[in-house]
Amino acid sequence: MTTTSGTAERPPVALRTEALEQLLTERGLLDPEAMNAIITTYETNVGPLNGAKVVAKAWTDPEYRRRLLEDGTAAIRELGFEGPQGEHIVVVENTATTHNVVVCTLCSCYPWPVLGLPPSWYKDPAYRSRMVKEPRTVLSEMGLELDDDVQITVHDSTSEVRWLVLPERPAGTEHLSEEDLVPLVTRDSMVGVAKAEVP
Ligand code: FE
Repeated sequence: MTTTSGTAERPPVALRTEALEQLLTERGLLDPEAMNAIITTYETNVGPLNGAKVVAKAWTDPEYRRRLLEDGTAAIRELGFEGPQGEHIVVVENTATTHNVVVCTLCSCYPWPVLGLPPSWYKDPAYRSRMVKEPRTVLSEMGLELDDDVQITVHDSTSEVRWLVLPERPAGTEHLSEEDLVPLVTRDSMVGVAKAEVP
């Protein structure tokens, strides 16, 4: 195996991943072109915009919202979003009194078809362990202050279930159309570490 340059400044995980990719490629188990195509797809074509469309529809269509909370996977598929890491998506709704936030304590399970690839902080060991133990503190550190009477539920993703948070529709948006609401729905609000943006 050849040595790659600039090993000093890259974290061990990145180096191990590179070495593994190289080994799998050499053994003919991995096609780097196919691998790159998948990454590009999830980085650029699929992203939080899909999730934002789901949320905006749920905010404006009570019947769709009901279906979404009842069977997330099926309701999300109605909009054409499906694929790897999205075989079983459960949607949980944030309200004025209940707040849901998602973590994967084991690794970085994430609902790819609606949110794209997970951000680096989601994969961070500190986020993964601390969100379960002290969610209110971690959320506050991430800029989300919740009142003491708001009930927080932390959902731990598994290889079986991926979670999507349906954030609360911001006040003062009653006049906005589904299309106008989409930009208010951020990735972070669908993981539950932020609220949807106020226009
Ligand atoms: Fe995971």
